[in-house]
Amino acid sequence: MVERESMSKRKITLIPGDGIGPEVSLATQRCIEASGVAVDWETVQAGSDIMEKAGTPLPDSVLESVRRNRVAIKGPITTPIGSGFRSVNVALRKELDLYACLRPCKLYPGIRSPFERIDLILVRENTEDLYAGIEFEAGTPECKSIVSKIMELNPKAKMNQDPAISIKPISRSGSERIVRFAFETALKNGRKKVTAVHKANIMKCTDGLFLRTAKEVAKEFEGRIAFEDRIVDNMCMQLVQRPEEYDVLVLPNLYGDIVSDLCAGLIGGLGIAPGANIGDGIALFEATHGSAPKYKGLNKANPTAMILSGMLMLRYLGEDKAADKLEHAVAAVLKEGRFVTYDLKKDRQDPTAVGTSQMADAIIKAMK
Ligand code: NAD
Repeated sequence: MVERESMSKRKITLIPGDGIGPEVSLATQRCIEASGVAVDWETVQAGSDIMEKAGTPLPDSVLESVRRNRVAIKGPITTPIGSGFRSVNVALRKELDLYACLRPCKLYPGIRSPFERIDLILVRENTEDLYAGIEFEAGTPECKSIVSKIMELNPKAKMNQDPAISIKPISRSGSERIVRFAFETALKNGRKKVTAVHKANIMKCTDGLFLRTAKEVAKEFEGRIAFEDRIVDNMCMQLVQRPEEYDVLVLPNLYGDIVSDLCAGLIGGLGIAPGANIGDGIALFEATHGSAPKYKGLNKANPTAMILSGMLMLRYLGEDKAADKLEHAVAAVLKEGRFVTYDLKKDRQDPTAVGTSQMADAIIKAMK
C-alpha cells in the first residue's frame, strides 16, 4: 500500500515563508524528493512579502490550499513586534484548529552536548493560553472597562490603575484533548511516561484546571503510561540538569513555546529542532526556529530543522521507509560534522562551515 502510494504524487501545500524561510524550504523540498517520495508541491505565499500585494499576510487561498491538501509544510514567517499584523503562524494554527504542537528533541551523535542521551517529545497546546491574542491596550476605553469590571468582581484584586491586559483562557476541553494527544503520542512511540508542566500553585484557576484535567486523563492510561507533573520553573532546572529522566512533556501554549527553545538548546540549537502542528486529520509541519532575518539570502542558515520537519511529515503520511532514509542521512551528516553549517561547528567562525544548500547536497548524497 505504502509502496504504491509512493509511486503516485502526493499533493502537499508548501509555504516558503520569509527571512531564511525560502532557503531552508528549498533545501527541504530537494531532500524530500531525494528520499523517494514524489510530491506535487502547491506553493502558496504568506507573510510580509505578500502583504503588500494581497493586503493581508494570510490570504484565504493559503488556508484553502491547506484545507484541501490536509498536509502542509512551511518556512518561518516574521511577526513584527508591537505593530503591524498579528502572527501568521499563530493565525494558521488557530484557523485550522491545529491544536497540538509536536516537537521531538533528540540528540544526534556528533552534536556537542554535556549529555549522552536526550530523546524528549514535547507536546505544546497550540490554541489557548496567553497566546490566544486576546489583549487590551493600556489606557483604551475597553481596557479601562475591563479593569473596573475586575475590581467590581474582585475588590481584593491589586492592580495599578493603568495596566494593559492579556487574557489567559485555558479550558477543560482544550486541556483534555492536548493531554490525550500526549498520551496517545507516548503509546504510538513506545514511550513510558508523560509529564504535565504547569504553574498551578500560582495560577490555580487556569493552570489548576490544566493539571486537574491531566490527572483525570492520566487515569485512562494507568498501567500503560506513567504520569507525573512538574512546576514549570522547576522543570526548566531539571531539564538542564537531568534531561534523560524525561520522556514526553505536555504543556500549555506559552510554557510550551519557551521550554521548546530550551530543549532545542539541549540538542544543538534551533538549527536542528523540528516541529509539527497537528489537528484532526490535518497537519502543518514547521521548524521550531523563526525567520532569522539577519541571515536572509546569505545561504548560511542551518536547513536541518526544516528537513527533519519534512521527515516528520513523511512519517505522518505513512512513508516510514523514506522517513528512515532521510533521518539516517541527516544523522550521518551530523555525525561526520564536515558538511554542516556554521552553528554546528565548534568555532562559529570556522571557515570550513558550509552553506544551507551545500548541507542539503551532503544529506542528498548520503541518501544515495
Ligand atoms: P529566530 O529563531 O529567528 O532566531 C533566534 C536565533 O537563532 C538567532 O540568533 C538566529 O540567527 C538563530 N537561528 C534561527 N534559526 C536558525 C537556523 N536555521 N540556522 C542557524 N541559526 C538559526 O528567533 P527570533 O529572532 O526571535 O525571531 C525572528 C522572527 O521569526 C520574529 O519575527 C519571530 O516572530 C519569527 N518567528 C517565527 C516562527 C515561525 O514561523 N513559526 C517561530 C519563531 C519566531
